[in-house]
Amino acid sequence: MQTRFSPAALADPDTATSESVIRKCVHCGFCTATCPTYVLLGDELDSPRGRIYLIKDMLENRRQPSAEVVTHIDRCLSCLSCMTTCPSGVNYMHLVDHARAYIDQTYQRPLPDRAIRWMLARVLPYPARFRMGLALGRVARPLAGLFSRVAPLKPLAAMLSLVPRRSAAPRAVPLIAAPSAPKGCVILLQGCAEPVLRPEIRAATMRVLARAGYAVVLARGEGCCGALVHHMGHKQAALAAARRNIDAWDTATREAPVAAIVITTSGCGTSVKDYGHLLRDDPAYAGRAAHYAGLARDISEFLGALTLPPPPAPTGLRVAYHAACSLQHGQQVTEAPRRLLAEAGYHVVTPREAHLCCGSAGVYNILQPELADRIGQRKAANLDRLGAQVIAAGNVGCAVQIGQRTQTPVVHTIELIDWAHGGPKPLQL
Ligand code: SF4
Ligand code: SF4
Repeated sequence: MQTRFSPAALADPDTATSESVIRKCVHCGFCTATCPTYVLLGDELDSPRGRIYLIKDMLENRRQPSAEVVTHIDRCLSCLSCMTTCPSGVNYMHLVDHARAYIDQTYQRPLPDRAIRWMLARVLPYPARFRMGLALGRVARPLAGLFSRVAPLKPLAAMLSLVPRRSAAPRAVPLIAAPSAPKGCVILLQGCAEPVLRPEIRAATMRVLARAGYAVVLARGEGCCGALVHHMGHKQAALAAARRNIDAWDTATREAPVAAIVITTSGCGTSVKDYGHLLRDDPAYAGRAAHYAGLARDISEFLGALTLPPPPAPTGLRVAYHAACSLQHGQQVTEAPRRLLAEAGYHVVTPREAHLCCGSAGVYNILQPELADRIGQRKAANLDRLGAQVIAAGNVGCAVQIGQRTQTPVVHTIELIDWAHGGPKPLQL
């Protein structure tokens, strides 16, 4: 795509990066067919190609975005399906991240929108605050129906409807002692939302890693990966989160070298694997950011490179595998989860439109509740058609989003692998 950025605009490194991304687009439109919002809405401006035009116009002319432009960019799920499809290698992720940061700097959102974004950014990335928020949400949950009838309060209604009815206080789940002579150590990213919503995922992961011969390090001082605020356009907050984690990993790896940073929420994995790009202009962190990004592995990717023993008692359960966008498109990890499940003795089936998002997409299902619901219903219907006994997903957000729209239990892939190898039956089953 031809561009006409001024030298002054290109002096900004983020704009220069975006310009090089835009120039790669050859307008072919292949990406439109695999974009969930285009598939649903049929509007070119809700397709990757249309958004690229809008972003180009906004950045090239250093224009303050209109409400219409912001609407079309806000509707993007950052599912990155377009990146998998694009034959020209357009890095849409970097482009839309920059567009969101630009909007955050130049556009005044309506007050209710600002308020909900402010609250999400200050609550979700902090497990203690999030836990407290869920407790309050449980009390306020009956108001969700009332809020859903007032347009500016719809995100609040969506948020309340996502609050689990019971707190995630798991039964006492056994851990396995770290191997006395481990094959190596791995850092397990602790995350922010996952341990609050589904603490059993971490317990299952630790058991599987211990059985595989790895000692698990939980790095002190680590926090949210920064994806949540980054997707809302808060670039400085995302940079701060990445720097804090890098410092925490520096301390942890001084005590013991690690083979990998293992991640169980694929949205976080996509974010950590991009730390090198995120901090590329920070001389104090760029090298270390690229190093840790290179160590990041989704749990299925890490286990997929090992040889696990055959399961002692395969269940033969029919498992519908839901490929989280951040795993299949963001990290291009597609076969490992399916293969691990099959090797663990499950009969794995794949839904139609497996390439399309479930509508969770970080906080998309709160900020864009109606679209997220339509996308989620379509995904749940495709999964239900398979008649599986359980749905497996590698991202807690997908598990919550799909779990609300189906009667079939939704668990993390690692819980099924753990169960097959002697761990407890997943709580959802
Ligand atoms: S990231 Fe997903 S929703 Fe956004 S333009 Fe690409 S395919 Fe469409
Ligand atoms: S597939 Fe790639 S090159 Fe083609 S229009 Fe989409 S982003 Fe541009």
